[in-house]
Formats: sequence, structure tokens, C-alpha cells
Amino acid sequence: MQFENTREFAQKLDEQDFLQSYRKEFLFPKVNDKDVIYFTGNSLGLQPKKAKQFVDEVMNDWASLAVEGHFHANKPWWDYHERLAAPLSKIVGAKPSEITVMNTLTVNLHLLMASFYRPTAKRYKIICEEKAFPSDQYMLQSQVRFHGYDPQDAIVEIKKRKGEHNFRTEDIVKTINEVGEECALILMGGVNYYTGQVFDMKTITAEGHKIGSFVGWDLAHAAGNIKLNLHDWDVDFASWCSYKYMNSGPGNASGCYIHERFHNRKDIPRFEGWWGTEKESRFLMKPTFEPMDNADAWQLSNAPILSLAPYLASLTLFEEVGMDVLVEKRNLIVSYLEFILKEIDAQVDSAFEIITPSNPEERGTQLSVFLHGEGKKIFDYLMDNGVITDWREPNVIRLAPAPFYCSFEDMFNFGQILKQGIKS
Ligand SMILES: *Cc1c(COP(=O)(O)O)cnc(C)c1O
Repeated sequence: MQFENTREFAQKLDEQDFLQSYRKEFLFPKVNDKDVIYFTGNSLGLQPKKAKQFVDEVMNDWASLAVEGHFHANKPWWDYHERLAAPLSKIVGAKPSEITVMNTLTVNLHLLMASFYRPTAKRYKIICEEKAFPSDQYMLQSQVRFHGYDPQDAIVEIKKRKGEHNFRTEDIVKTINEVGEECALILMGGVNYYTGQVFDMKTITAEGHKIGSFVGWDLAHAAGNIKLNLHDWDVDFASWCSYKYMNSGPGNASGCYIHERFHNRKDIPRFEGWWGTEKESRFLMKPTFEPMDNADAWQLSNAPILSLAPYLASLTLFEEVGMDVLVEKRNLIVSYLEFILKEIDAQVDSAFEIITPSNPEERGTQLSVFLHGEGKKIFDYLMDNGVITDWREPNVIRLAPAPFYCSFEDMFNFGQILKQGIKS
């Protein structure tokens, strides 16, 4: 498609947008009395209007039923979490039995590492990408130390080539083969939080399995953003937070995927709790743990219903729309944003550089822009003028036009404001 940097053209794209009506399903903050241009759906997605209704339902059931709500609420609480498995399984490409929702992301990755990071004297190393999200770095270091190893030795970071912004799959594969039989676990972010690069999860998972390693993915920036096929890619385990592209609310519950070959096996160690036991006998309070025959075996506590409610509300929107439609709009709106950025860059004499891969297969919703010169000033100008982006040191703003609620006209308006900001 031949793009044009005009309001008329942007409005025409909005008219043709199948998701246009979904914009009004979300609540926008306002700056100067106008809806903001929201680019931080990769950090905290906007609130779906439906969320309040789902939370109110729980509050009302709690008021009128109290403890009876566990079994007699409109959506009973004792198995409330099970309602999220089917819609999530479509979003991440898994079987519903491979999905469970619990805790928060870093907690879940630790719990999954109890099962999938079991180092031995010979096989104890973990491969990850350099400059992974800090929580992942702290998690891996503390796990390695917990098992008595030295992070310097046990954590192998895949490096980017000098002068390049993104990782190359061939370099990742090379590292996997170099570490070989010493590798106990490969655990990486499926989409890099800083650059927005999408990793070739299928290839990396297959290469990891060839050397006998477990392979897991942190899907914080991938779930609800890109097409995933966790089961077919044969991924061992994965986890994600729900408050980024999945619009579930701040700090909200995390999802987990565990491949079905690990279900119903007594030889997989796990940290266990009563919500992981067979539900038929759960309330008989028996002394021995009989695991659920699915990913719910990893559940520990009774579920945080008030946190699951807005997540479930948001998933109803994903159910209506489906990932294919989201991905189609995402590709178009991100390409349009990229076009506008390039136009402005040419007009204002190379003020910035896009460090996200230009190949649509290697990126999702996010474009990371490296600002030359006075980046922070431009960032502040954008914020003052109703454009919410986020700032990452040393000089990067991340722009993620979430397809559910961002419009093409937003992209045009953003371009005009950015141009003013650079000139001023
Ligand atoms: C957002 C994000 C997290 C956040 O972890 P929480 O436990 O939800 O606070 C972790 N890892 C990555 C890669 C992220 O992008």
C-alpha cells in the first residue's frame, strides 16, 4: 500500500479498520481535555470498559454470598481460573489443558524453574540474551546461586554483534551448540522488551532440544502481541504477564503454559499447594497431594478472584476478535507509523533512528526509536502534548500502537506533534 502522511489518508485507513469500533471499548486518559495518543500498551494496556462490570460482579457476589460464593457465585470462585484457559490457549497456541493462570510473572518463572532448572555437576548452565529484562536477570542469577553455582560461570549470555541493534538467530544457535551438554536451560524473552525484536522461538526451541536442554520463554512482550504456537513449537514452558498487551490491569495475574508431556508425571519436581490437587477431592483435606492432570497441578493457592475478573473481561474481547485480525491491523498500523517516522526524519534532518527490525516477521507492535541529541526534551514535549510513550536510557522511546484501541489518525497526529517537538 502506498501510504500518505495526511489526515485524510489516516482517516480513510480508520474507516476501513475492522477493529475501529473496539476503540470505544477502552478508557483513555486525557491531557488538555483530549484523549491521549497511547503508545504504552506494551507497559500497561488501557482499561477495557468491561473490566469494571466483571469486578463489580465479584464484589456483589462477595457482599451477598460471602463464603458461599466459592460454589454459588454467578461464576463460582473455586474454579474461576479455569475460565481463562480456553481463551488464553488460542492466544498463545496451546491446548487449554496446558494453560494455567496464577501469581505474577517473576514468581511463576521461579516456580517453573523449580521444575525445569535442575542443574547437575555436568549440566548446569542457563542461556539467555544479553541485557534481558532486569527481573529476568535477577531471577536467573538468584536461581543459579540458590543451586550453589556462580552466575559468572553458569549464565551464558547471547551477544549482539558490535554495531548491531538486534540478535541474529545464527549467533544464538552457535552459542547453544557451544554450550552443548552443559546447558540445562534456555530461558529468553520471546520479544525483546527494549528493541521489540521477535525471536525465532521455533528454531531456538528445536536447537535447544537437540542438545538436551529444556527451553522456556518469558512472553511478557509477546502474549497478545504476536502469533504464538507454543504447543506446535514444542516449547517446554512459558509464562507472561497480563497487564501489557492483554489489558488486564496493573500488576495483574500471570499466565503459564506447560507442555502436556509434563502433565501427570511423578518424576517432575514441583512446589505444590492445595489448588494443584485433584479438584474432586480438594476439600476432603487429604494429607497426600494428588496432582491435577493438567497445568493446574502447578497452582498453589486459591485464586485471586478480584485480579482474575478484569483479566477474564479483557479475554472476552480477544475471543471476539481473534489474534489473526489483531495481527493484521498491527502490521498495518506499525508500518504506517514507521512510514510517518521516516518522513519526519527526512524533513528534520536525521533526528532519530528506528532500532526495531524492519522485517514485519521480526517485530510486533513496538517500534523503538533512538533519538539523537536532546532526546529527553523531545520525550517531555510529547508527554506535555498528550502523547504517552516511554523513555528508556540512554536515549530510546518505545512506541507501541496497540491494535485494539489505537487509530491511524493517532499516528498522523503523533507525527505532527513530534515534528513540532523536534523543531522547538
Ligand atoms: C514486564 C516484564 C516483566 C515484569 O515482571 P513482573 O513479575 O510482572 O513484575 C518481566 N519480564 C519481562 C521480560 C517483562 O517485559
